[in-house]
Amino acid sequence: MSAARRARAGPVLLSLAAALALMGSAPARTGRSATGLPAARDSLLLESYVRTLASVRWEGRGVGTAGIDSAADWIAARMRAAGLRPGGEGSSWFEPFEVTTGVVAEAPCELRAGAERYVLGDSLQPLGFSSNGSAHARVVFAGYGITAPGYQWDDYAGLDAHDALVLVLTQEPGEMDSTSRFDGAINTPFADLRTKAINAREHGALGLLVANGPRWHAGEPPRAPARDGEGYMTSGLLAAWISAGAADALLAPAGLDLARAQDAIEAGGQPRSLALPDSATLTVNVRRTRATTRNVVGLIPGRDSSRTLVLGAHYDHLGYGGPSSLAPNVHAPHVGADDNASGVAVVLAAAQRLGARARRGWRPEHTLVLAAFSGEEIGLVGSSHFTDEPPRPIESIEAMVNLDMVGRLRDDKLQVMGVGTATEFPALVAAVNAGVPDARFDLKTSEDGYGPSDHQSFYKKNVPVLMLFTGAHADYHKPSDTWDKIHYAGLARVSDYAQALVESLDVRPRPTFTKAKADASPGRIAGGGGYGAYLGTIPDYMQTEGGVLLSGVRDGSPAAKAGLGANDVIVRFDGIRVDNIYDYTFALRTRKPGQEVRITVKRAGQEVVLTATLGRRP
Ligand SMILES: [Zn+2]
Ligand SMILES: [Zn+2]
Repeated sequence: MSAARRARAGPVLLSLAAALALMGSAPARTGRSATGLPAARDSLLLESYVRTLASVRWEGRGVGTAGIDSAADWIAARMRAAGLRPGGEGSSWFEPFEVTTGVVAEAPCELRAGAERYVLGDSLQPLGFSSNGSAHARVVFAGYGITAPGYQWDDYAGLDAHDALVLVLTQEPGEMDSTSRFDGAINTPFADLRTKAINAREHGALGLLVANGPRWHAGEPPRAPARDGEGYMTSGLLAAWISAGAADALLAPAGLDLARAQDAIEAGGQPRSLALPDSATLTVNVRRTRATTRNVVGLIPGRDSSRTLVLGAHYDHLGYGGPSSLAPNVHAPHVGADDNASGVAVVLAAAQRLGARARRGWRPEHTLVLAAFSGEEIGLVGSSHFTDEPPRPIESIEAMVNLDMVGRLRDDKLQVMGVGTATEFPALVAAVNAGVPDARFDLKTSEDGYGPSDHQSFYKKNVPVLMLFTGAHADYHKPSDTWDKIHYAGLARVSDYAQALVESLDVRPRPTFTKAKADASPGRIAGGGGYGAYLGTIPDYMQTEGGVLLSGVRDGSPAAKAGLGANDVIVRFDGIRVDNIYDYTFALRTRKPGQEVRITVKRAGQEVVLTATLGRRP
């Protein structure tokens, strides 16, 4: 990591005095909040919560770090101090669950080519999604390892890769060339190493060897597999990153080296693949690391124990970076002040105020559950655990209000998602907005209950959901999402609004659940970088291997017309094996809108083949 990078990644720490001075220069707030406390005091409280949660000592609250455990203990302590009761497992504050956090390489990992032996280190690193084992096989050189009909490029054309070890270059043709038939200096998904591995597997290969092309990456050693969760689902074949020297040894019997092989492709502007005369032996051994992480759950008992409302926010973030980071080469705490210390601060402020009311003798109609979820950033894992093993019966949950990134209010714009999930919600969110003196937002509502945060886990179980969000920004998923960039007066208004929503839901009859209309956004399973083919499935991100489990399909989508539905497990897609979400994305990317595809699903123990006509991404 360069010094410049380090400086840019470092959080800007102001002294408390400086911070208070800054706040003093903000317009004075004289309004009172919905429950009668001066809002200005709330904004100080919220700021102290965000600063604590987003401090670097908690290591970006990455699952598997000591920092996130300290954060969980601290959140539980705040809930206890506020007078809440423990709402987790066995009358504790916590719901623990296990997740896969990363991959480590272990000996033996090696490549034998002729008399040479390349071992774990600068000449060889396994790829994180490799399977374990050993294969002795002939070797083929398959250029960049790309099959992309949309770009008229196929490194496998005329090449027999069956039962072979396939040697390929990293990146894609014309990597630094803005006139490249690929997308020039920005990689397409075909440059993704997992895409190359799936492509090799689909061409019958036993193993994949990747090497940095000397043209633009001379001297760069193979990268070690990520310890923080990068692509740990196996791709079903052996896969390793080798040095250019090791690749040269494989190419030598054909009178080639890697630089010349790459130059031939680049100069000719077309694939130059070939079978090599000699065999090699590849051995890979990786271990997937596991960790226990915890949701934090507190509650205020209601008058009617059969009625529950949930207010929640995730408290985990990206740790030191990893695959979801938008500063992928920076190893620094991603402190996540907006994502999502801001949401947790609102939950804790609600605990504080509602707890104070409860101490004065108030009892809500519903049992109010306040939850801080872990594992959101790695696939809504904590909230899925909560809804799969709910601390209170799932049928008793009448609504869930989720907060994710609510600290950057601009132009009074507050996004409220999920208003289509109960018939009463459009009127409710408007009425609460008009009724809270400090709120009066310019509300931007959308109907869908599916979306990339924890409310989706509840919506999947037919619980009406609302999700509050103040919008994305340039610091999203970067170490620069720091506490000093939060708009605390705005956060206090969102806090008032969220609390008024909960209080309003509490005194109303049960909202009527409805299936919401899908948003125009294609969701997370777009076939990006291909032709834009659209199927309209909603994968369950909890199922990690053994096929792609669907939690539903979009109404009127090609998937719905083909007869796909919830609980189907896709195991093949037009001849391509589908073991996990990566395989599925790969398969979609290779097909065109208008094309007819055969999809094999497992349904109630039987394999069923359905035919779908792909659409264009909406
Ligand atoms: Zn988030
Ligand atoms: Zn996030």
